[in-house]
Amino acid sequence: MAPFRIRTYGDPVLAVPARPVTAFDDDLRRLAEDMLATMYEAPGVGLAAPQVGVQKRLFVYDAGDGPHIVVNPTLTVLEGAWEFEEGCLSVPGLSWPIVRPASVRLEGFDLDANPVAVEGDELLGRVLQHEVDHLDGRLLLTRLSKGDRRRALRDLRNRALDEAAPGTGADVGARGS
Ligand code: ZN
Repeated sequence: MAPFRIRTYGDPVLAVPARPVTAFDDDLRRLAEDMLATMYEAPGVGLAAPQVGVQKRLFVYDAGDGPHIVVNPTLTVLEGAWEFEEGCLSVPGLSWPIVRPASVRLEGFDLDANPVAVEGDELLGRVLQHEVDHLDGRLLLTRLSKGDRRRALRDLRNRALDEAAPGTGADVGARGS
């Protein structure tokens, strides 16, 4: 059983910007560990604190090289554009081809308040952008074209009846990871 229930579309916690972390303490460490456990169980490749109902600017991810935690991140777009079939654990079972910048640089802090920086393209770049969006109160639906967004909202209304279904989220990517 995952430590947290992942909040899904319609939960107001997903729609407001999270607050910067000010205390790098044991509570933060426990939160990050529980978020990682929740992410791996989902399974997903990234999870932001608002997705477990916590209004703090941190997220966890594993794009294939082990667990990472980033606190108070800032994102800089580097270059390019890349289309990727993107999904979200908070919008389970749905995914869309979304174009975003291909490569980005992320700066932030680890759990001991040491600065960390990472540059990523392709899947890693996508995960970093997707999770920072969560911290800003944005779901991937806001990245869709108008037509796709209209269809997506209709799909979501239709499946609202079906809320208890576990779904196959992704955070990020519809490739079942
Ligand atoms: Zn997500």
